[in-house]
Amino acid sequence: MAVIIGDTCINCGACIDECPVEAIVDEDDNPTGEETYYVYGNKCVECVGHHDEPACATACPTEGCITWDAVGESPAHREDIPESMRGIGKSIVD
Ligand code: SF4
Ligand code: SF4
Repeated sequence: MAVIIGDTCINCGACIDECPVEAIVDEDDNPTGEETYYVYGNKCVECVGHHDEPACATACPTEGCITWDAVGESPAHREDIPESMRGIGKSIVD
């Protein structure tokens, strides 16, 4: 996986156009059925090779909404982010 959008998402749309790999979908296309935006973990590259930090998190106005998810089948990930920061709701942007 990659980064994850939490249930505090307000569907503002600020993140979706920032994603360089089109990994984000809006609430209408969220495969979980939740009324929030969603990141496809098998597409998200954590902006490696594109930006210094995840662009979606930089753009997001909702504090703590976008967090690090576990590393799994994703194509690329930030190797300086340890497992201890993943999957526990650790905000990407302070
Ligand atoms: S971290 Fe980067 S690649 Fe992943 S969803 Fe956010 S903007 Fe897209
Ligand atoms: S920028 Fe943040 S609050 Fe806005 S749609 Fe994206 S994840 Fe949701």
